[in-house]
Amino acid sequence: MTTTPEAATPATAMPATATPGTAMPTTATPGTAGCESGKTSITQPGAGGTAVPAQRRPLPPVEQIRPGLWSVPVPLPVRRPPYTLVYVFETPVGPYLVDAGWDHDEGYEALVAGLATIGLSIADVRGILLTHGHPDHLGLAHRIRSASGAWIALHPLDAAALHRPQLPRPRELTALLAAAGVPDDVASGLLAGGPLVIARPRPPDLLISDSDRLDVPGWSLHALWTPGHSPGHLCFWESEHRLLLSGDHVLPSTVVTTPLPDQTVPDPFGDYLRSLARLRGLAATQVLPAHERPFTGLEARLLALEACHRGRMTQLVDGLRAGVNTVWELAALVGWHRPFADLSGRAVQIAVQDTVSYLAALVATGVARVERGTPDRWRLVTL
Ligand SMILES: [Zn+2]
Ligand SMILES: [Zn+2]
Repeated sequence: MTTTPEAATPATAMPATATPGTAMPTTATPGTAGCESGKTSITQPGAGGTAVPAQRRPLPPVEQIRPGLWSVPVPLPVRRPPYTLVYVFETPVGPYLVDAGWDHDEGYEALVAGLATIGLSIADVRGILLTHGHPDHLGLAHRIRSASGAWIALHPLDAAALHRPQLPRPRELTALLAAAGVPDDVASGLLAGGPLVIARPRPPDLLISDSDRLDVPGWSLHALWTPGHSPGHLCFWESEHRLLLSGDHVLPSTVVTTPLPDQTVPDPFGDYLRSLARLRGLAATQVLPAHERPFTGLEARLLALEACHRGRMTQLVDGLRAGVNTVWELAALVGWHRPFADLSGRAVQIAVQDTVSYLAALVATGVARVERGTPDRWRLVTL
């Protein structure tokens, strides 16, 4: 889920020493157009800390979206985001779910209770459609399958990614921070918070590809492949009622992040921007996201998100033009939701990672190039 860096994970994950010190450039970082509403950044819950049974705000209620379609909030063991919305499609043969929530007892009990509120039993669930493979979506799927025999469906690219570590390991994070030119005292603070241990997920039963019609009796559901937040992220489009189940791709106020570029996915931010553009003109009557609340106004939200990201990339180009060339210094020029110097802990790491992803997008479009080293030096391509 990005790029308004703010801890997507427990605040206690990072020691106070991770707060940037005087090494930070002091350039003011006004917010970027379109990013103002981004209060949080969602990368992947669980990155960078231990589970926190927080004093959390009450969950929203189970809600009827329209006849036969419900949202059930399932709490997460982290503060942000506080819950995943599981959508329940009623059918004559039993309910089908979109997303499943995090695999912990509190979440499972909330889902069982939520279904009971609707008059449904977890044992009757027939299928689970996953927007993507992150643990706050896929986590409970196998427990639900054990209780019901439901199938689990996921895009092949996210199914393949389940076999790989979904978060940077300490060795990889160390290399990332060194290449970014992060000062040693900040880097050591970032490395001190170990990732929340997430059980290796098991594979799905079915694979869903772009445009597939989904076997949910009585509903006209199709898959829309929207890579970016994860390589195999899917939105689901209910064409009869013009409902978009947007997963983590489009949230009403959170600006979501993308994974670090790698050999498999060299330009995740570019993918994300193209996936935003793909949803233009859908004329959805309602957007049903996996976090926060259902909302209307898809087109305006898509425009705001694109403006946010393109504005930040323009700020990076301006920085490169001025001769700023390390990720650490460039990150300080970006209009995050608060000035870079005020970010701390996990938010700093997200800002660094997002800056790397933005720069990779500039490389992919021939605007920038990189000289690898410690740190990497980024330059504008001059013709
Ligand atoms: Zn996600
Ligand atoms: Zn999520």
